[in-house]
Amino acid sequence: MLLLEDVHTHYGKIEALHGVSVEVNQGEIVSLIGANGAGKTTLLMTVCGTPQASAGRVLLEDRDITRLPTSEIMRSGIAIVPEGRRVFPGLTVEENLYMGGFFNNRTQNEQGIRHVYDLFPRLKEREHQRAGTMSGGEQQMLAIGRALMSKPRLMILDEPSLGLAPLVIKQIFEIIAQLRDEGITVFLVEQNAHQALQLADRGYVLETGRIRLQDTGANLLANPDVQAAYLGG
Ligand code: ATP
Repeated sequence: MLLLEDVHTHYGKIEALHGVSVEVNQGEIVSLIGANGAGKTTLLMTVCGTPQASAGRVLLEDRDITRLPTSEIMRSGIAIVPEGRRVFPGLTVEENLYMGGFFNNRTQNEQGIRHVYDLFPRLKEREHQRAGTMSGGEQQMLAIGRALMSKPRLMILDEPSLGLAPLVIKQIFEIIAQLRDEGITVFLVEQNAHQALQLADRGYVLETGRIRLQDTGANLLANPDVQAAYLGG
């Protein structure tokens, strides 16, 4: 579904990714874990084309998207749930959802909104509430709902658990599992390594711009190096 082949990404003269290869197969949840500054967000943004890879290739469903403009990549079946959620605070829940369906026709939007409200009854209850007045967990649900509006085949989530209470994190991870059950492939970036690996079919460990380890989620959880570095020993 998604393939990064020996991807290098620069910010000016500084290289942030030093030849990263990652594969996300259809129907999988793949988690990428790593410390602050490892390059996780850079990797996701390289998939989205901003910044573009300076070397290597990004393939989506066998199509080379490395040099496509972000606007076109975002219309190729990918949706991203950005770090910090980035909902439009002054818009209502429903208006935020319409923003996610920007390229849809009316019927697609109506179906999309129904689907999101089925998945998140809490959003339906708050459809006319301004997003900026909702809790972090509700905003995260809205960010996922907004991403779903474009009917993505691949959903990319950047640290969805950031700043949320443990019970809310559990709910968000259950929702991510549900997305996979609906046939959406998931690429998840997380500092919350324990839950991200528990959920994942496979995982990658990114350290200072390089993939250090890759394995099934279960094997990475059991790996003593991963335990020492990312799971509190
Ligand atoms: P975090 O979990 O803190 O978001 P991360 O793993 O997502 O970290 P990135 O944000 O991808 O890491 O950063 C990787 C490296 O690239 C860091 O050294 C960072 O300082 C650098 N970097 C990120 N964005 C830029 C930018 N716009 N300009 C210059 N350097 C950047």
